[in-house]
Amino acid sequence: MEQPIAVTRQSFDDWMVPVYAPADFILVRGEGSQVWDQQGKSYIDFAGGIAVNALGHAHPVVTAALVEQAGKLWHLGNGYTNEPVLRLAKQLIDATFSDKVFFCNSGAEANEAALKLARKRALDKGNGSKNQIVAFNNAFHGRTLFTVSAGGQPKYSKDFAPLPGGITHTPFNDLAAAAEAINDNTCAVIVEPIQGEGGVLPADPAFLQGLRELCDRHDAVLIFDEVQTGMGRTGDLYAYMQYGVVPDVLTTAKALGCGFPIGAMLTTDDLAKTLGVGTHGTTYGGNPLATAVAGAVFSIINTPEVLDGVKQRHQWFLDGLNKINQQYPIFSEIRGGGLLIGCQLTKDYAGKAKQITQLANEEGVIALIAGPDVVRFTPSLIIPEQDVKEGLARFARAVARICS
Ligand SMILES: *Cc1c(COP(=O)(O)O)cnc(C)c1O
Repeated sequence: MEQPIAVTRQSFDDWMVPVYAPADFILVRGEGSQVWDQQGKSYIDFAGGIAVNALGHAHPVVTAALVEQAGKLWHLGNGYTNEPVLRLAKQLIDATFSDKVFFCNSGAEANEAALKLARKRALDKGNGSKNQIVAFNNAFHGRTLFTVSAGGQPKYSKDFAPLPGGITHTPFNDLAAAAEAINDNTCAVIVEPIQGEGGVLPADPAFLQGLRELCDRHDAVLIFDEVQTGMGRTGDLYAYMQYGVVPDVLTTAKALGCGFPIGAMLTTDDLAKTLGVGTHGTTYGGNPLATAVAGAVFSIINTPEVLDGVKQRHQWFLDGLNKINQQYPIFSEIRGGGLLIGCQLTKDYAGKAKQITQLANEEGVIALIAGPDVVRFTPSLIIPEQDVKEGLARFARAVARICS
């Protein structure tokens, strides 16, 4: 047999378009909330991809679903439907406000579908000038040109002008500013219930409630981007359930496939009619392989054991992080919901989030950043207590080093 090609971290710099700057080690295997690199060093995984591997690595039930479907049918194309996609649609519909589902392959694609739906819906109603989208500063909605423009971080969009027009950004959690911007020409408002990439910033309940009322008043589509908050991350299946504010469209991805690429847009019967035959689509969306995996993931996550377990784990993290912060006061705030936790660095440590996660790697734990001043944790929803303890002990050693 031919030898596999030898690869090292240097190979990345040699062969890859340099849009990422990955860590200086290569992970080769994972089990639950532990991963191992090429040298056999172990890490506790407090990142789970980026809020993706919600059931850890190599979950036996999810792996079995993948292997079983892999032996049956991978792909058909949209001229033919399949059993796993229909079953997954029914699972999502039964558990949420939605009546209809569109499947795609990523969070950005789900948001792209949502924004296109909103534009076309307004046009179908005969209002050609009702094409304005209101979004929020600091938001993240993906990397396609439309979604990067809807996102509120100009550093991700400014180099790609001319950008799609008709998008206004206002400050997050500022209802008065949103009320200024939303009018009868608004076709959609898109918002994350907790801004993830933007720094783990939860929306105020009154803000989301106010957006709901403004959308009703001006006949605009309220889109909740739950790509990061979705599928159990906050301790409810979707964060809107905690807020008690129901959107018209919800987008989900990340945890939905636990690492197998899949995204979905959930909506109502009334809105779904907008996207008639031939108006939108994607080659791989809703393929049997991805939807069989997501169906297995859904069955595990949408249970009281897992969802209540998230709330319990939230407390383990809070207790541990507060204890670290008592000894080494580097965080001015620890916030977020469930297992989407952000630790805001104090002024003294501003800009050091990346350096802290690099030291954490050296100590054998994987954490994320959310901007330069926030350390973010998005571990598996079923991470064992022992791994939380061990990971936090390793993280504490990294914090001790940054403080010394
Ligand atoms: C990650 C993310 C996206 C983009 O998802 P991709 O699968 O990378 O396209 C969109 N919105 C939010 C809130 C996200 O966290």
